[in-house]
Amino acid sequence: MSEKFDIIIVGSGPAGSAAAYSLAKMRFNVLMVERGKYPGAKNVMGGRMYAYALNRLIPQFWKEAPVERKVVREKLTIQSEKASFTLDFMDEELREPPNSFTILRARFDPWFANKAVEAGATLVTGIRVDDLMWENKKVTGIIAGTDKIETNVVIAADGAVSLMAEKARLKKFDVKLFALGMKEIIELPEKTIEERFNLASGEGAAQLFVGNCTKEIPGGGFIYTNKTSLSVGIVIYIDKLIEKKIESHEIIREFNTNPEVARLIEGGKILEYSAHVIPEASRSELFTDGLLVAGDAGGLVVNSGLTLRGMDMAIASGVAAAETVKRAAEKNDFSKESLSYYEELLKRDFVLQDKKTFEKASEFLQNERLYTLYPEFVCRLFHRLTLVKGPKKRAFDELLEVSKGKRIQMCVDMLKAMRSI
Ligand SMILES: Cc1cc2nc3c(=O)[nH]c(=O)nc-3n(C[C@H](O)[C@H](O)[C@H](O)COP(=O)(O)OP(=O)(O)OC[C@H]3O[C@@H](n4cnc5c(N)ncnc54)[C@H](O)[C@@H]3O)c2cc1C
Repeated sequence: MSEKFDIIIVGSGPAGSAAAYSLAKMRFNVLMVERGKYPGAKNVMGGRMYAYALNRLIPQFWKEAPVERKVVREKLTIQSEKASFTLDFMDEELREPPNSFTILRARFDPWFANKAVEAGATLVTGIRVDDLMWENKKVTGIIAGTDKIETNVVIAADGAVSLMAEKARLKKFDVKLFALGMKEIIELPEKTIEERFNLASGEGAAQLFVGNCTKEIPGGGFIYTNKTSLSVGIVIYIDKLIEKKIESHEIIREFNTNPEVARLIEGGKILEYSAHVIPEASRSELFTDGLLVAGDAGGLVVNSGLTLRGMDMAIASGVAAAETVKRAAEKNDFSKESLSYYEELLKRDFVLQDKKTFEKASEFLQNERLYTLYPEFVCRLFHRLTLVKGPKKRAFDELLEVSKGKRIQMCVDMLKAMRSI
């Protein structure tokens, strides 16, 4: 390829496409390079995207984007060995404006990348970027096989295990900082999904599972309702999985046979299985001379326990990267100092604010008591409150009884929870 591009974007996930779309609309000559056969071919995700960031970029995107269902029902299931307790939250205000949608990446990513192409960006697929070009410690382009392409600035949007951020020495891979996500897509008829999750036509649910379902390994399970399938999976901390010597596929198999889950997926056909890492606690430097890092590549993911957010963070950071490039181009200055404006933008926006708010969440969520002691406690308490077998105690007395000997520990954990999630 001999053409010179103003900007090269590595990766056409949500971060790359958001940057490419924004830059193409600003009339820059943009090249987006994707190693998959098509955008989304290699991407994995639980299945729910919070709408806020994309709605700012493409107002009411859901009217044209291939979204699956608008999530209006949120469920949290706490499981002990023999019991489970489900909170079922339904909110009219989650409908309009929509808070989140379930999506399938194999449909969503091509749509989003195509929006960038329609706006004027060039997309090449099936090409892996192997390295960055350098001159006087400044990134000057990319190397893909025998091709070398020069540019003013590269945006690394190449996902969790970013080769570009590593090559630029902005990030080191450390397994302790990553979670492992595994997911199956299970086909079911539309009506069956709506009946099982108590949904009106076209509406969706997100159900999270915590406790016994991950075999005491910190993490949790999820089910998201698509139009005619369910996204069913587990997110767990990799180092704990290695420590306990458990095979990852065993966990997902057991999750599916868990009575609560089995009922929801019964009769379904597994269409797809995939696994991917999530940079929950990993963080990279976000810029250097001639290079910006967006989305998962920069570790821009937040897991607060109740919300796992990578898509909206990726989109917002892609847009911020584009705005930074626009400002740098006006000054014709792509130095590290000029590109530091990117971090300023992310701090003003929710991306780095939320990263800071939840910076201790990952450490807190690795507390094994959250997956053993507390689910057991909640289920035990409700067991005692509902069982009628002889004289009954008041609810508060039952609470004291069930928490006997654990109260100090519980208070300590509660304080930690207040500071981290
Ligand atoms: C199981 C699981 C469940 C999740 N659930 C949710 C959820 O419910 N909600 C949510 O918001 N987030 C969720 N996430 C996180 C979310 O998927 C990511 O945060 C999001 O995809 C990040 O987008 P990105 O564009 O930064 O990276 P990616 O989506 O990973 O895109 C990177 C792109 O770069 C390409 N690429 C990589 N290397 C190269 C290279 N060298 N050359 C060319 N191309 C390259 C890849 O093929 C890919 O297309 C989940 C993740 C997992 C694994």
